[in-house]
Amino acid sequence: MSARTITLLGATGSVGRATLDLIARAEDGVYEVIALTANNNAAELAALARRFRARFCAVADESAGPALGEALAGSAIAWGAGPRAVEDAAAMDADWVMAAIVGAAGLQPTLAAVRRGACVAFANKEALVCAGVLMLEEAARSGATLLPVDSEHNAIFQAFDPDQRSHIRRIILTASGGPFHNATLETMRAAGPAQAVAHPTWTMGAKISVDSATMMNKGLEIIEACHLFALPQEQVDVLVHPESIVHGLVEYADGGLLAQLGCPDMRTPIAHALAWPRRMETPVDRLDLARLGALSFFSPDPQRFPALGLARTAFLAGGTAPAVLNAANEIAVAAFLNGQIGFLDIAAAVSEAVEAGARAPGAGAAPASIDAVLDADANGRRLAHAAVTRLAR
Ligand code: MG
Repeated sequence: MSARTITLLGATGSVGRATLDLIARAEDGVYEVIALTANNNAAELAALARRFRARFCAVADESAGPALGEALAGSAIAWGAGPRAVEDAAAMDADWVMAAIVGAAGLQPTLAAVRRGACVAFANKEALVCAGVLMLEEAARSGATLLPVDSEHNAIFQAFDPDQRSHIRRIILTASGGPFHNATLETMRAAGPAQAVAHPTWTMGAKISVDSATMMNKGLEIIEACHLFALPQEQVDVLVHPESIVHGLVEYADGGLLAQLGCPDMRTPIAHALAWPRRMETPVDRLDLARLGALSFFSPDPQRFPALGLARTAFLAGGTAPAVLNAANEIAVAAFLNGQIGFLDIAAAVSEAVEAGARAPGAGAAPASIDAVLDADANGRRLAHAAVTRLAR
């Protein structure tokens, strides 16, 4: 069997590093690294490119180019700098591409990999939330395979039998519920960044921790799931599960519910996508159900977590609404983290931006290009800034 050729977009981030760690543990000849990209960490990128014998590497930040060139001096590794160079990396002939660039910068290179029909592992939420229609149309055209890396979607992908699609009643995304799972509205109103980023089960950055606390992360995941599994939003449910052991479930017509379980460790879904359709060894902790003893599940409270309803409304509205929702949320979370607005104001600001965005000309049509997605994103940011300013008074 020949090696699976691999390109990592976002090689120096947490998902990129975990992927390379798994590749390093695999037997020789199973994986062959073609290209690696990073934002501006030239020194680490060059070291990884040398270690994994990549053919090409690229930094998105043009000003990091000279440092990359210097760090690769004497090697046979080709390199480039700037957003075009990252797209060139995505367009190179690799069987499997990890799309792990955070934010809007990942859209164009991810689309480039989808367009040439690669197996694309999606770790970038924006690609499906903001450009889901575009990504899926291009994948249908090119024959690209989309592999979800988000733990919930990866779990559902494993339990979802596409041949029995007409017998699938619903899918269920689990949510830890975040630090405010049991909090009162009063506590949530008074909460500051320190309380909101204290995530109980997963270790994550500040932005995603706040998204977990508001459950906007789950809202965005509902949109992701609707695209990935081609289901209407009524067939995508959310279940609060504080232990984060059951990651996702699929309910079939016969009443059977299939779930995927595992310790909360991103290396399991990454390994699943990397080896798919086969399996591989990982150093992840094994799940000891007897030691755990019990698992708990709750329905999410729509009053305390309005972000879930906002995301459903944005998906139903379609067009640019999900891109506006995502961008407005980034601005509102940043405003909360720097003390401008309260915790409950995050959803209020996002709601206001999404409603205003729906009145923009052409808002009802799904973005037909990455440029159209970026326009909607810019509009969402502008509208959210206005809402934040008003709420901060
Ligand atoms: Mg997730």
